Amino acid sequence: MSASAGAPAAAGGLRLETALSLLTQAGWPIPPDIQPGSEAWLQAVVDGLCELSSRDALTGLSNRRQFEAAIAREVDRVARVGEPALLLLADIDHFKRVNDTHGHAAGDIVIRSVADCLQDCVRPMDLVARVGGEEFAIILPNCPPAFGQAVAERIRHKVSLKSVAIVGGQELKVTVSIGGAFAPPWVRSSASLWSERADQQLYRAKSEGRNRTCLDMPPLTVVSAEEKGLLFAGLTQSDPIEPSGNEDLVPKTPQ
Ligand code: GH3
Ligand code: MG
Ligand code: MG
Repeated sequence: MSASAGAPAAAGGLRLETALSLLTQAGWPIPPDIQPGSEAWLQAVVDGLCELSSRDALTGLSNRRQFEAAIAREVDRVARVGEPALLLLADIDHFKRVNDTHGHAAGDIVIRSVADCLQDCVRPMDLVARVGGEEFAIILPNCPPAFGQAVAERIRHKVSLKSVAIVGGQELKVTVSIGGAFAPPWVRSSASLWSERADQQLYRAKSEGRNRTCLDMPPLTVVSAEEKGLLFAGLTQSDPIEPSGNEDLVPKTPQ
């Protein structure tokens, strides 16, 4: 018996036929070994629907809904934990020409191929989403600013090297422009401000010629020799710190 055939009776009046056929059509059928109508079966239906509603149908990447939830969580985490995080926005260059020259179906193949390439370039903890027609967003938690440019450049370079096979044995090459911005650690910001800063950089990458990466780098904290002297003056051996009276609370170094 198919899962969909067992649905109405087993789930006690719930109308699940549409949900079950959607899941089957999306390649996410409920495993036949789960008893229809059982709690495990209903949980599998709910899990399948959640998965379906957070994925982009063309590429299998996270969709805009999932991206928005993820970036809101990341903004919150960065403010609490203080780890730097990078947001990259990638847009395929002159993509309209691909559609116009080779057709919409070839365009779809190109979008899928770029999506696979982006996913292959990042760590499992990073989130890659398709957020528009030929636009992608990548959230990279715990990415130090010193590595940002190299990460973005690696992704851009990988896409530019890839050949995409379309129908008729033709091979296409495309490039992406990438804009990026860091979420300032320890600061409560908003997802829309963060996205806007990355988007401005994407606009800059496009206007400076495409197939390039532009990042909004956080300001470097430069500490002058004089400031260092003031900061560490009390910690030199020749000028020991005055006893505070709390010495018993400080762990003793074993002799
Ligand atoms: P730019 O370098 O400035 O980004 O130029 P572009 O041609 O890539 O950008 P533009 O916004 O002019 O065109 C994007 C095109 O993407 C237009 C739209 O028809 C096409 N598109 C959007 N979604 C899809 C899709 O799912 N499949 C296909 N094949 N094309 C799509
Ligand atoms: Mg675009
Ligand atoms: Mg484009």
